[in-house]
Amino acid sequence: MPTKKPKRTTSVSNTIRLSLFWAIVILAALAMWAFFSPHQPLKDVPISQVIKDANEGKLAKIEGRGNDLKITVKDQDKPTQASYINGGVGTLLREGTLNNKGRAVISDSAPSDNTIMWNILTFVIPVVLIGILFMFMMRQAQGQNSQAMSFGKSKAKLYGLDKERIKFEDIAGNDNAKQDLEEVVDFLKHPKKYQGLGAKIPKGVLLVGSPGTGKTMLARAVAGEANVPFFSISGSEFVEMFVGVGASRVRDLFQKAKKNSPAIIFIDEIDAVGRKRGSGMGGGHDEREQTLNQILVEMDGFDSDTNVIIIAATNRADVLDPALLRPGRFDRHVTISLPERKDREAILKVHFKNKPTDDSVDLDKLAAKTAGSSGADLANMANEAAIIAARRDSKVITNDDLTEAFEKVAIGPERKAKVMNDHEKELTAYHEAGHAIVGHVLPDSDPVHKITIIPRGGTGGVTWFLPPEDKSYTSVYEYKDILARAMGGRIAEKLKYGDDGVTTGAGSDLRSATQIARDMIIEQGMGSKLRNQVFHEDNGGLMFDKMTRERPYSDATATEIDKEVEALITEAARRAELVISHNIPVLEKLKDALLEHETLEEDAASKYMAKAVLPKEAALHK
Ligand code: ADP
Repeated sequence: MPTKKPKRTTSVSNTIRLSLFWAIVILAALAMWAFFSPHQPLKDVPISQVIKDANEGKLAKIEGRGNDLKITVKDQDKPTQASYINGGVGTLLREGTLNNKGRAVISDSAPSDNTIMWNILTFVIPVVLIGILFMFMMRQAQGQNSQAMSFGKSKAKLYGLDKERIKFEDIAGNDNAKQDLEEVVDFLKHPKKYQGLGAKIPKGVLLVGSPGTGKTMLARAVAGEANVPFFSISGSEFVEMFVGVGASRVRDLFQKAKKNSPAIIFIDEIDAVGRKRGSGMGGGHDEREQTLNQILVEMDGFDSDTNVIIIAATNRADVLDPALLRPGRFDRHVTISLPERKDREAILKVHFKNKPTDDSVDLDKLAAKTAGSSGADLANMANEAAIIAARRDSKVITNDDLTEAFEKVAIGPERKAKVMNDHEKELTAYHEAGHAIVGHVLPDSDPVHKITIIPRGGTGGVTWFLPPEDKSYTSVYEYKDILARAMGGRIAEKLKYGDDGVTTGAGSDLRSATQIARDMIIEQGMGSKLRNQVFHEDNGGLMFDKMTRERPYSDATATEIDKEVEALITEAARRAELVISHNIPVLEKLKDALLEHETLEEDAASKYMAKAVLPKEAALHK
């Protein structure tokens, strides 16, 4: 994050706001005074009377201002009469009508102090008030990110050479990516070395990886290592409602970066603007395409000695427009994968560095359990553990806090307040016991890690299987066991309460089972008839593309796919039913244990299931 000294800024703006407030109050008070201050009403007299009185020596003073006269009678200190003469008091004197020898003091166009004040107040106050109002509105508009004032400016954040600079050593794991990016650091540091040999410095590097794997961190670390400024913007920030804004933001961003060269431009979520150009339907498309074109134009426009490198991040490289990826643009791809066990431990260590833990904390064990978690997930777990410990009013984090944090992040927080009646509780216990037994006896399933009938996240209960070690591949046998154990819950309900006694509790199991079965057929070529062929149809296009594009296979194949999916699910249900019906006593025992303890950890659960058997008909291989 940029170091912006936010406190100072707020106190300055507070002072400005306070002084504006007082200025308005004071001006308003003055205006009120001006309106309501006691002006003695003057008596209107005809001009003939004034001339007569003046000539008779009855008046002390005649003040003329324009055509208006104010008359002070002798022995009075203020004017008490008013009159009117076309051409002003001077006309009277010039025409000799006013024979004023030594009598009244006559002053022409000499407004009194009061009148000056009055004029100031009536003319100046509204102007000042309108000015203040205008300033206020301007400040408000600027407060909202200066949207109105700087529409075409890029909103890139500049992370300069400050203390927050991060280096490769702050990033745990990701060794391959770091190695690839070392090269980029060298380009930025020693461009001459490469230019001397006639080599062109690459312009674009694409980081591809799941969300939270540390792409932003890596890009910042490249800037940190090379000691150059880092302009960061998200793809979606280019695109506004108005056509042309994105392109002008791109121009502005590249201009800024060139001025600060050598520099790095980081475009996060480049897929927001860089998707394949195509159907051209809808205004949004036009805007996106213009923005993308501008990026391409800017990248082509770089001279070979403009030392600016653009790093873009995405988790969908497959949806990007090929024009972005061709040589001379984002031609270097760095893939960032989810961390392996030792990297997960290293990441956890980084995030527990400044957190007090007691001796029970076992980060290696947590690393083993968190296969599939990203760096951001692990950082989140570390933070949750600290929050849980703080809520217990503890000064140190214990392993229990860690476990709770892990479970909270992985499957959602416990919902102890959710009330279930006795029947629902029993049904949940049967349901979870069904999952557990099927998973426990099938040879290619991961072992049971935990069973609980306390509602968590959006579920009524959870049976949790964890792989003992990281796996890169999944076999058909493993997939089929996953499907069977997913069906275990519904089957246990059916065996206990009859065909129509089953509930909506199995909804999410069935959804995920169907999804897995479809993936097996469509993505992995694992059908029995449709083997070794994939039917991938999503190229990440937008809504319109999907609606207008034909499926890449025939209707007959679509029917075949549906049949294959159905066969997988039916087989899974049959195997689950075989397993559970052969293990009814174990099911009852596990259900009772769950009703009593609500949660069973790995060891306790396997003890209750020790007598479970695998019926021969449910086995897929010896
Ligand atoms: P991405 O850009 O890939 O979505 P980020 O770079 O924003 O991910 O990472 C999000 C957070 O995850 C980081 O702020 C950091 O706390 C944590 N993180 C991710 N990967 C790592 C890592 N390898 N080492 C340390 N922390 C990491």
